[in-house]
Amino acid sequence: MKKSTEASATACWDCLYRRDFENTFLGICTWFEVHGKGSNKDIPPSLVEKGCKYWKKK
Ligand code: SF4
Repeated sequence: MKKSTEASATACWDCLYRRDFENTFLGICTWFEVHGKGSNKDIPPSLVEKGCKYWKKK
């Protein structure tokens, strides 16, 4: 049996929309800007390991 890695499969770390800009700890989510829904946002610690429904493979 393969060990499940589902928990981190959609973590922000592996998401296309995550960027490292200067002075950011966990990174910035660019989803909002890319989709014209607002400005880039800091990724909160509670989300960074989980990701969100907009996760996309980079
Ligand atoms: S919050 Fe969602 S869209 Fe933004 S980097 Fe994380 S998984 Fe990607």
